Amino acid sequence: MIPFNVPPFVGTETKYIEDAIAKHKICGDGEYTKKCNAWLEGKTGSPKVLLTTSCTHATEMAALLCDIKPGDEVIMPSYTFVSTADAFVLRGAKVVFVDIRPDTMNIDENKIEAAITENTKAIVPVHYAGVSCEMDTIMDIARRHNLLVVEDAAQGIMSTYKGKALGTIGDYGAFSFHETKNYSMGEGGALLIKNQDMIEPAEIIREKGTNRAKFFRGQIDKYTWVEAGSSYLPSELNAAYLYGQLESADKIFDDRMNSWNKYYDAFKELADAGKVELPVVPEGCTHNAHMFYLKCKDLEERTALINYGKANDIIMVFHYIPLHSAPAGKKYGRFNGEDIFTTKESERLVRLPLYYGLTDEDHAKVVKTVKDFYSKN
Ligand SMILES: *Cc1c(COP(=O)(O)O)cnc(C)c1O
Repeated sequence: MIPFNVPPFVGTETKYIEDAIAKHKICGDGEYTKKCNAWLEGKTGSPKVLLTTSCTHATEMAALLCDIKPGDEVIMPSYTFVSTADAFVLRGAKVVFVDIRPDTMNIDENKIEAAITENTKAIVPVHYAGVSCEMDTIMDIARRHNLLVVEDAAQGIMSTYKGKALGTIGDYGAFSFHETKNYSMGEGGALLIKNQDMIEPAEIIREKGTNRAKFFRGQIDKYTWVEAGSSYLPSELNAAYLYGQLESADKIFDDRMNSWNKYYDAFKELADAGKVELPVVPEGCTHNAHMFYLKCKDLEERTALINYGKANDIIMVFHYIPLHSAPAGKKYGRFNGEDIFTTKESERLVRLPLYYGLTDEDHAKVVKTVKDFYSKN
């Protein structure tokens, strides 16, 4: 059986976890969390990165820092994971969905402005498959309408837009280190903060509303409860696992990119024949091989392909059911404008197995199985 995903593991993680245990420091914000934060800051150029318990939680922190209140509206694509919306809905916001672009599956930057009302507070671009949204346009809209931008860069670590790391362009960015992402700590994430003035409020929210971070830096002599907050810091055990991965980030990146490129080349012929569509990476963007997908003709063909894969011991999966058609999406959101591409494109997208350590043999089997399917259909 060729699974869709295998959580990344390079081998050094165990040693670092054991080290954290031996040093009697397994709660948050120890040596490994600091090392991960510093690595992420160095890699992305972000002024401040804080490791969190998930990308969902990093986005929740961003919603708190944006001071989202009941009645505020937040603009995002409907084609995304539930967390993108949850973080803002929890603060009482109304979610306003706009259509996606069919080429990248990202929010259509040209449809954002029509969705803005006097209640709009933020725009949340989601960088699907680690391929950037059209950020210059989005940042320009945000500037002109005085809106905040929170990048859901859950899938976007190590990707760039015009030379800038995803997650560093908006006011806040959120990464995920879930086991399905390129780099993992089991469950975990990170918040990237652009504005220096928001670093201290972020540290306070993350540490149960206390100024504990300042205390540990020796800037105050005792710490106390100063704001409403929660507990968004991960255990050192998880951070130690992640640090092993970050140290090997290039090795993981190259391995995934090799698989991605081989898929792309292998299916070029099918695409040229008009049987499938391949992922698009716009000019000025670099991606991180987070995902390789194909677009079939329609839902029916996709279901048949997934079943054909299963019959041949290969797990291929589809992706998001658009949020606006889900029960909570109807309750907390509205779709602005017409759903031209969100539902139609999401129904024909299928993701192929892609993970660190996918063998050449298994890769070849996936390619052959997809090609066999199309030669019969
Ligand atoms: C994975 C993912 C999330 C959630 O990440 P967690 O770390 O599991 O909370 C949010 N948004 C997108 C687009 C994702 O792919």
